[in-house]
Formats: sequence, structure tokens, C-alpha cells
Amino acid sequence: MAHVVIIGGGFAGVWSAAGAALARERAGAGTGLRVTLVAPNEHLVLRPRLYEPEPDLAKVELRRILGPIGAEHVRASVSTIDTGRRVVVADGREIGYDRLVLAAGSALVRPHGLPGAGRLFDIDTLDGALRLTDHLRGREDYAAVVVGAGFVGLEAATALAARGRVLLVDRAPVVGDQLGPGPRPVIEAALDELGIERRLGTTVTEVGEGRAVLSDGTEVETDAVVWSVGLRASGLTRQISGELDALGRVPVNRRLRALPEVFAAGDTAAAPFDAGHTVMQACQHAVPLGKVAGYNAAADLLGVPLRDFTPGPYVTCLDLGGAGAVFTRGWERTVMAAGAEGAAVKKWINDHIHPPVDDAAEILSAADHVYLEIPFFPREGTAPAA
Ligand SMILES: Cc1cc2nc3c(=O)[nH]c(=O)nc-3n(C[C@H](O)[C@H](O)[C@H](O)COP(=O)(O)OP(=O)(O)OC[C@H]3O[C@@H](n4cnc5c(N)ncnc54)[C@H](O)[C@@H]3O)c2cc1C
Repeated sequence: MAHVVIIGGGFAGVWSAAGAALARERAGAGTGLRVTLVAPNEHLVLRPRLYEPEPDLAKVELRRILGPIGAEHVRASVSTIDTGRRVVVADGREIGYDRLVLAAGSALVRPHGLPGAGRLFDIDTLDGALRLTDHLRGREDYAAVVVGAGFVGLEAATALAARGRVLLVDRAPVVGDQLGPGPRPVIEAALDELGIERRLGTTVTEVGEGRAVLSDGTEVETDAVVWSVGLRASGLTRQISGELDALGRVPVNRRLRALPEVFAAGDTAAAPFDAGHTVMQACQHAVPLGKVAGYNAAADLLGVPLRDFTPGPYVTCLDLGGAGAVFTRGWERTVMAAGAEGAAVKKWINDHIHPPVDDAAEILSAADHVYLEIPFFPREGTAPAA
């Protein structure tokens, strides 16, 4: 029986499995196609919610999604992809495939050679976020240093400011350097409102017991240093292509094909967005990429027409803790909603990234609706969102 194998149990992997199951259903009754997802985790981790005070709630059992749609789950980690033999090696076991979807995601870029790096915290993984919340639980008015004033660092800093003092440090001269000038006034006002101190043009050069040393030579007392600098695609991408982009991603075409028998999705895929951009390493893109890559991997084997990946408008929604959130649209990141209005959009998104469970028809219908349409645009009120 033909076999689609998916590496990864994040948004892209799970939605690839649902996309493949949808193509199998489209091909008609009696179509023989095995769909296997290989990932070490028992849960889909909703990474965009890991800044929340109870990160353990940001997860969904994979069996509740894969079971109803007839996809198998092999709980293992892939070390080798042999594209010549069409085999992956997972915890020493060989699994053959006819089409492969690489959806092994990304990980935080950790500092090399930073003295005391073992003391760093992060909110990149569920384990990391739990370690941080456990460490700070019960401490009165803790002090935290957050390194990196990008998307993740800003969400970490503004969440931590609810119960403690936060120092935000970034090498760049401005906060949200990569986010551009559009949302910056809203972000700066939120940081002021929450009393978050900034040291810009600076980084952490050493982490000690209860203290951190900054590159300007100052030493600060701190209960936790949270590292939030950069994401890089899984190293498995190197086994697919020698031409990775700066984020370590595999180039794919509009059908998300990297090689004749290999597709890629989510944070491992450098898919074209428009003439000037590739997709972002974001859940907003990982979900539709997964839906299309899984569908195409199966459709390719079943004689069903393949789908193009045609992304919806690019949006961002940055949580700013007690100061609400800022919702932007387009690559200039034009502010569409801020404060409490922005927080309502963020809540809607955080609720809707939770996939349907236990019901095959609902899961397959969601796989067929490639884009999540955000139903409200508080200021302009018209266009659909990605
Ligand atoms: C704190 C935080 C906040 C974020 N906020 C937002 C946001 O507001 N909006 C947004 O759009 N995006 C946000 N993101 C980014 C978003 O979470 C990622 O883009 C998204 O999770 C990518 O999905 P993925 O499935 O490609 O990869 P991942 O979520 O990284 O999942 C990868 C999966 O592959 C598995 N895997 C890894 N290696 C192997 C292997 N060798 N073998 C088998 N399985 C493997 C992993 O266990 C995991 O199951 C945020 C990320 C973080 C950390």
C-alpha cells in the first residue's frame, strides 16, 4: 500500500496528516493509502501560547486528531532521511515512504560559549515554558531579564511583567527591530505602561547565580534570564537540500515540493509568499502549509489534482500582557487594532489555533479550508485575514 510519511507533530505535521487524509477521501472509497506521522511527542504543542501563565494548557493530544482520520503515530525521532532508498530512520527503525513531508519545525537559536548558558530559561518548548513558570511560582515580585525584544521576547517580557520586574535587553537600537516601525509606538507605550525597563544596543554576556552581566559592563540581580533570540529550522533540512535559506529552511515550489518525492511544510519550508517574500516561521503559515503539503503528498500518489499554496494576507498579533495586544496587517505591519481591541483578536486567534478533535468530518473540513479567516477587522472592517 502506498505510504505517506510525515516527520513532525507540530502544526505543520498534524495538518499535513489531515491534508493527506482529505486527499485520500477525495480519491474515493477503497483507496489504499497509509498515512504515518513520526514525532516523539504525545501532544501537539500550541507554541504561540507558551508565554501564558499556565503553559501546560497549551497542548492537544495527537491521538484525538490522528485517530479519527486514520493516521498512525510512530512516537520516535528521525535521525536520517535517505532520499535515495526512500527511507527514514527513527530511533534506529527504518520506515519506508512513497512520499515524505518534512515538518520537523524549528528551535530557538541558543548562544554558543555564553558563560552560565545552562542557567538560561526559554519559552520555546513546553518543557522550557514549564521550567520557567515552576521556577518563578510563589516568588514575590521577582526580577527577570528577557534577552531579545523581538516577537517572542516581547510576549515573554509583557507576560512576566504581570507579577515581577522585567528588564528587556536587545542588541538592536530599537524594540521590535524585525517588526518594523508600524507597531513600534504601540509596543513602546505598552512597555512604558507595564514599567518594563529597556537596555538597547546591549546583550547578556554572562549568567551567574541570581545575577546577569550585560555587555555594557553592568551587573544586574535577577531570578531568571529568558533567552528569546531567533528561530532556526530543524537540522533535518540539510538532508534534503544543500541550498538552505538563512533560517535553515528548504526551498519549495508553490506545491510545496522540495524533491520529486519530498514535500516540506511549516518552519522547515521556505515557500514563496509573493514576489518579494517567503513565508514566515509562524503558526499562521505552518497551518496552511501543512494542509497543502500533506494533501499534495497524498494526491501525487492517488491521481488527484495537486493544490497550489496561495497564502492569504499576512497579519501579526502580538500579545502585550496587561497592555492588551497589537494586531497588524500587511508586510508594513499597519496597526489595525491595539489595547483591548487587539487583545480580543489575540484571544480569538489563540482559541482558533486549537484544532478540532475527535470528529473526522470536522477535522477534514478544517483541512479543506486552508486559511483561518479572522472575522473582524476593528478599524477597516473589510478584508479577510490569513
Ligand atoms: C513563544 C512563541 C510564540 C509564538 N507566537 C506566534 C504567533 O503569535 N503567531 C504565529 O503565527 N506564530 C507564532 N510562533 C511560531 C509558531 O509557534 C511556529 O511557527 C510553529 O509552531 C511552527 O510549526 P511547525 O509544525 O512547523 O513546527 P514546530 O511547532 O516546531 O513542531 C515541530 C514538530 O516536529 C517534531 N520534531 C522535531 N524534530 C524531529 C525529528 N527529528 N523527528 C521527528 N519529529 C521531530 C517536534 O517534536 C514537533 O512535534 C510562536 C512561537 C513561539 C515559541
